[in-house]
Amino acid sequence: MQIYLVGGAVRDRLLGKPVKDRDWVVIGATEADMTSQGYQRVGADFPVFLHPETREEYALARTERKTAAGHKGFVTHFSPDVTLEEDLARRDLTINAIAQASDGELVDPFHGVRDLEAKQLRAVTEAFREDPLRILRVARFAAQLPGFQVEEHTLDMMIDMCAHGAMDELPGERVWQELHKALQAPAPERFFQVLDAANAWSPFFVELRGAERPPLGGATAENRLAACLASLAVEDIRAFCHRAKVPNAFRDFALMVVRYGDTLRRWREVDALELAGAVSACRGYHDADNLRPLLAYLRWRFECELSDLLAAVARSNVEVHARQFSETGPALGAALVRARAQLLRDAQRLQ
Ligand code: ATP
Ligand code: MG
Repeated sequence: MQIYLVGGAVRDRLLGKPVKDRDWVVIGATEADMTSQGYQRVGADFPVFLHPETREEYALARTERKTAAGHKGFVTHFSPDVTLEEDLARRDLTINAIAQASDGELVDPFHGVRDLEAKQLRAVTEAFREDPLRILRVARFAAQLPGFQVEEHTLDMMIDMCAHGAMDELPGERVWQELHKALQAPAPERFFQVLDAANAWSPFFVELRGAERPPLGGATAENRLAACLASLAVEDIRAFCHRAKVPNAFRDFALMVVRYGDTLRRWREVDALELAGAVSACRGYHDADNLRPLLAYLRWRFECELSDLLAAVARSNVEVHARQFSETGPALGAALVRARAQLLRDAQRLQ
């Protein structure tokens, strides 16, 4: 059997980027060969094995035949006579279809090295059309590899796939996976530019089409997603996050930004009761530090300094806690709100 390093590890090493996980392909082996050498079988859809020591993934070389719509509509064929070139041919982009032998020599039948140098995201073959996930992968690679362009024919295929509803077949989980990688990438806005070029908005991103998209540099994935959603209505944020399987923490942060961001940002001008309501909804009265993520977002997005507000809330928490209230029940709640609003009113006047 022969073993080659493939996929992202080869690509990233050639780009001089840090290599995260390494994927291997095994040629000329059977499942029994692998297990007898101590590899542990894990793949459900096709044979993937974990190395007994490194725990890295080793896949038997395989080919794929399209049998149904969607990302998983394939029958895979694996046997010891599937060649390395056949396995590389089923991959998405030429830059992901380079193999490296144990002596370091590259096997590159689809000219991935040339495309790395020319900064081209190019489909390996026409079979690219068979999996809609590849559209989002291309968009994500555009975000991760600034300067890379989607090659013309590849983009034409993506446009054609989208026009035929290919994206309808994707599970939301895979959408979030790629979007999340794009949000952590150096140029997340390029993810949306590629979606736009391919007209891949429907069905997952319909609410984001035409939405305001501020510069996204230098921020966390949470802040970037919130900035992309900040011009949408609450119901639209909910609908998008539900469909694209955005985790609740990301969704709730985006909702907090649209609901209370403006009030906190303009905290010196707004009505103190409205301000107290926003602070309370952000759980700032539970602990002023709960406001920090939203304040950090507002600082990043609008360059506004809100440490006075944070200090005022922290002070009011201490004061309210120390004060004796004669009211009980609902009257106590109302008295607390009045006291907090008054303390914020005092803080608003301090310059
Ligand atoms: P990452 O840096 O995110 O790990 P990657 O390119 O290594 O990027 P993986 O999902 O780890 O992505 O996949 C490993 C390799 O498997 C890819 O480089 C590519 O060759 C192939 N591959 C993955 N997903 C697809 C797909 N949907 N269609 C075709 N080939 C794919
Ligand atoms: Mg990988």
